[in-house]
Amino acid sequence: MSARPTLSHTLGFPRMGAHRELKFALEQHWKGDIDAAALEVAGADLRARHWAVQREAGLDFVTVGDFAFYDHVANHIQLLGCEPARFGFHGDESALSRYFSMARGVQVDAAHSHAPACKHSRSSEGEPALEMTKWFDTNYHYLVPEFSSATRFKLAENRLFGEMDEALQAGHPVKAVLLGPLSFLWLGKEKEAGFDRFSLLEQLLPVYEQILGRLKAQGVQWVQIDEPILGLDLSGPWRHAFEKAYWQLSRRAPPILLATYFSPLQENLRMACQLPVAGLHVDAVRAPEELLGVADWLPSYKVLSVGIVDGRNIWRTDLDAALGRLRPIAEKHQGALWIAPSCSLLHAPYSLQAETAQNPEIKSWLAFAVEKLGELKTLKAVLNDGEASVQAELEGARVACAARRTSPRVHRADVALRLARTTADDDHRLSGFARRQAVQAACLGLPLMPTTTIGSFPQTAEIRAARAAFKRGQLDEAAYRGKMQAEIALAVRKQTAIGLDVLVHGEAERNDMVEYFGEQLDGFAFTANGWVQSYGSRCVKPPVIYGDVSRPAPMTVEWTTYAQSLTELPMKGMLTGPITILQWSFVRDDQPRSITTQQIAWAIRDEVVDLERAGIGIIQIDEPAIREGLPLRRADWKAYLAWATRAFRISASGVADRTQIHTHMCYSEFNDILPEIAAMDADVITIETSRSGMELLRGFGDFKYPNEIGPGVYDIHSPRVPAVSEMVTLLKKAASVIPARNLWINPDCGLKTRGWPETEAALVNMVEAARRVRQEIATASSERLATV
Ligand code: GLN
Ligand code: ZN
Repeated sequence: MSARPTLSHTLGFPRMGAHRELKFALEQHWKGDIDAAALEVAGADLRARHWAVQREAGLDFVTVGDFAFYDHVANHIQLLGCEPARFGFHGDESALSRYFSMARGVQVDAAHSHAPACKHSRSSEGEPALEMTKWFDTNYHYLVPEFSSATRFKLAENRLFGEMDEALQAGHPVKAVLLGPLSFLWLGKEKEAGFDRFSLLEQLLPVYEQILGRLKAQGVQWVQIDEPILGLDLSGPWRHAFEKAYWQLSRRAPPILLATYFSPLQENLRMACQLPVAGLHVDAVRAPEELLGVADWLPSYKVLSVGIVDGRNIWRTDLDAALGRLRPIAEKHQGALWIAPSCSLLHAPYSLQAETAQNPEIKSWLAFAVEKLGELKTLKAVLNDGEASVQAELEGARVACAARRTSPRVHRADVALRLARTTADDDHRLSGFARRQAVQAACLGLPLMPTTTIGSFPQTAEIRAARAAFKRGQLDEAAYRGKMQAEIALAVRKQTAIGLDVLVHGEAERNDMVEYFGEQLDGFAFTANGWVQSYGSRCVKPPVIYGDVSRPAPMTVEWTTYAQSLTELPMKGMLTGPITILQWSFVRDDQPRSITTQQIAWAIRDEVVDLERAGIGIIQIDEPAIREGLPLRRADWKAYLAWATRAFRISASGVADRTQIHTHMCYSEFNDILPEIAAMDADVITIETSRSGMELLRGFGDFKYPNEIGPGVYDIHSPRVPAVSEMVTLLKKAASVIPARNLWINPDCGLKTRGWPETEAALVNMVEAARRVRQEIATASSERLATV
């Protein structure tokens, strides 16, 4: 066993601040209320405070380089001097203003622009922001670097070194953090046909060498280099590049701790252990089974950093279990042992301190970022000085974890029984699609290619104010209900006037599509301040699923039946599906995600059945998050898709053949999981397609998607009103790959972020487009008849 003391550190810390100070400073700056200098002060202040928190928790280094005004990948784009040329920066803009231009795009107000009226120059048209996409399997979004054969790298930005100086001057021992060169390239995107971004590696490495040399000269003790792609399925060239790259990087660098997280290393394990670096961090929460193998393969002169505290979730660590895992590793690994959260704490809320209103029992089960550092402090103390020094902390964790294991708040016999009794009959509809389609056609009497919307209508300031006043108790239940009913009635009137075939109630009563249901389901808790950065200044406050889920009472029946009472046209009920509810919540770590999802599925099924009983003939179960739940390793996709699609089917299969089940998905790129989407067996799927120029449809056509489908005919992300002719073209394109009898006509997604004027104008055009295409089809077929 190593004689050296165990050290503790963190891979990163939340940036926003205890009270989302960074969010508010950023938004003030963007509005023009504070200048860049004031924003920089706010940033420096947060960093100083966060380093102090790390030192108070006894971490052996503060981590520097994890801070960003928008996103750490965007920081690297500037650090490495590869801002895309399309932004046309002149060199007279400050680095910060260029940074925000890349992050947020350049908008030019045409009325105030003095630029020449050339249609294609950026000054008159603006420039879209860098694309944003999900950081591995988290809900954090990074800005995607753009690469082409013209990309050049250079050490171009001193921000990182400045932050290093701040920390050193404050007297902290410093570990710098960088995103590794291979992960940086991997996360980017080629902006030139036929170009392979991998070819940029050779050019990129010298810049990293330069950065590392400079950090060393500054007196940085360690550099953590994050290469999370080591947990992905890498093709040969990417895998093989690691060894050479790290030989080159380690030459002039401070000791390097190579950090991996989010997924098991598997075939990359030996290679990761043998790279020429001074230490390796592994995620022992996501891949506990690999820990012994890592201890076996890692040479004894290297540091082994064990990510033992879950950086992705909000549960208090079972310290005894953690020690049970750490002790054999400490025995086996002859070299130095460090302990850390599994990944950066960027993905955890700041601290429990603000959760004063939380149920004390539930609160005692939780640990946010600050509390997680406290757990590391205790673990380190046990490993270095024995249990006696932290008896009270260990006992506290023991009591809380034991209580959570047995609490009736968590474990419900009725829910367990229901799951145990799920049979093969529960996860499919009574009849196959062909029969259901015939029955539904007879019951619903819809025209060819019916028109509908995805659920929400504009959430006006008035709606939001009413909801907030109700929540604060300033508006009583009856008054609130009256206001929401008035909104529903308005939506019904407008839809009728527009001429839509299948109406929706408009979702005015919903703040958020997951929170709304979580608030009404058993097993969910909400936090006061559990914010996590989603992108830029935007934070989300995911619900906490702490216990067995069930539905104590109907959730949407009253609003939906009220809406139906106002019209003869079919009113579509609107629910959020089990996978999306799971995916956008903090989930239990004491049972598999598949079980939690199945519990939610039964709760949603209860609602579906109640809606049917109340006379609602069409019910939509939204699953926009199904694709983002895909595991990082392709080998795990099949198992996930099997339980995820089964959960959907359980939620949808409690109804008669005549009831039409819809689902909705956004964010395209579904072509690789089409068989599984088909296996969900929704009668109708509405799906985002317009932004991809209906690319997706080809997939559906080639695959011969068997059920009905509504490819979105216009993008709802901007107020632009699409012309009738534009939508006619898209519809004809759709009709060329999908039989017309299976087609629906609808926008890409919900309309809650839009205003009424553009919404009405666009839908009027959409209905007109539908009329024209139907007419053309009718004419064509009567001509065909005439020639027979
Ligand atoms: N029914 C939801 C809405 O219309 C769907 C939202 C979504 O797909 N993200 O707002
Ligand atoms: Zn959508």
